[in-house]
Amino acid sequence: MPFHSGFAAILGRPNAGKSTLLNALVGEKLAIISPKPQTTRNRILGIIHVPQQKGHDAGQIVLIDTPGVHRPESSLGRKMMAEVHEAMEGCNLILYIVDVKKKWDDSDDFILKLLKKSGTPAFLLLNKIDLLADKRGLLPIIAQFQHRYDFKEIIPISAVKKTGLDELLQCVLKALPHGPRYFPADQITDQPLRFMVAEAIREQALWSTREEVPHAIAVVVEQFEEGERLTRIAAAIYCDRDSQRAIILGKGGQMLKKIGTAARLDIEKMVGTRVYLELFVKVQPGWRESRRFVEELDWRRQLEQIAGKGPA
Ligand code: GDP
Ligand code: MG
Repeated sequence: MPFHSGFAAILGRPNAGKSTLLNALVGEKLAIISPKPQTTRNRILGIIHVPQQKGHDAGQIVLIDTPGVHRPESSLGRKMMAEVHEAMEGCNLILYIVDVKKKWDDSDDFILKLLKKSGTPAFLLLNKIDLLADKRGLLPIIAQFQHRYDFKEIIPISAVKKTGLDELLQCVLKALPHGPRYFPADQITDQPLRFMVAEAIREQALWSTREEVPHAIAVVVEQFEEGERLTRIAAAIYCDRDSQRAIILGKGGQMLKKIGTAARLDIEKMVGTRVYLELFVKVQPGWRESRRFVEELDWRRQLEQIAGKGPA
């Protein structure tokens, strides 16, 4: 039986459900989720190992979750869009995911332009069908997209309810070429644990804050010491202004405590030991405008620097 393998990039507007889909397909929480747009800031690999089954080929699907396609207005936004382009480069398939409850807008035109330019085969995934009272509501949406682009497949799904995902996986596998196993059978992501820890903290900070604050938050793990029974972690939560720092700290430090407790529980599941977590809140005015700061948040870049390959 042939072995299919390749890279499939998940593309879409902010909040379409890209990260929810990645987590649902891989069966593990690899990407953080929130109802706030621009939760995902870098590309995230999720590796699906499809075993040989009766009548089906085996294979390895490497999914790439990406930040939402938007018009960037800061260094951070430009970096996020660069991540989208990186994910599209050299991938075998694009999964364009749309929220069926959202009206068409400029970003859809822009994404279709990207698809056309890339020439990569694409599927259209109509997500959040659990929110549709009547499935006939899909027909005009399908017509709207079909009319503008020749999608290889159009598949209605619900990433949250896990509807249509088996069919989606089979279609993706079939669309990938015959190829090698790119990653070992026990690997499900390329993200270092240290970065996933930073993201788990950022997720809790996102859920606990509102308006402009979630967008102004970045998390850097400064200390990470794994012991047999206890992992010691110290992390800095960066924000833009003193007023935001006060919000994140909360009255008498209550908010930070809440963020820390919730994050610690998630991190303990990840690392498999008890965790001692220390959090600090630091103000770094205008960090989203600083190319240097934004680059330094990128773990791929950090690894390059450690390996001595990138610029010092
Ligand atoms: P992303 O920005 O595209 O990565 O979107 P997320 O995966 O972070 O999801 C954004 C919001 O949409 C979250 O509140 C999700 O719970 C919600 N969401 C994602 N998929 C579905 C779905 O199939 N049905 C419903 N009802 N909500 C969904
Ligand atoms: Mg996301």
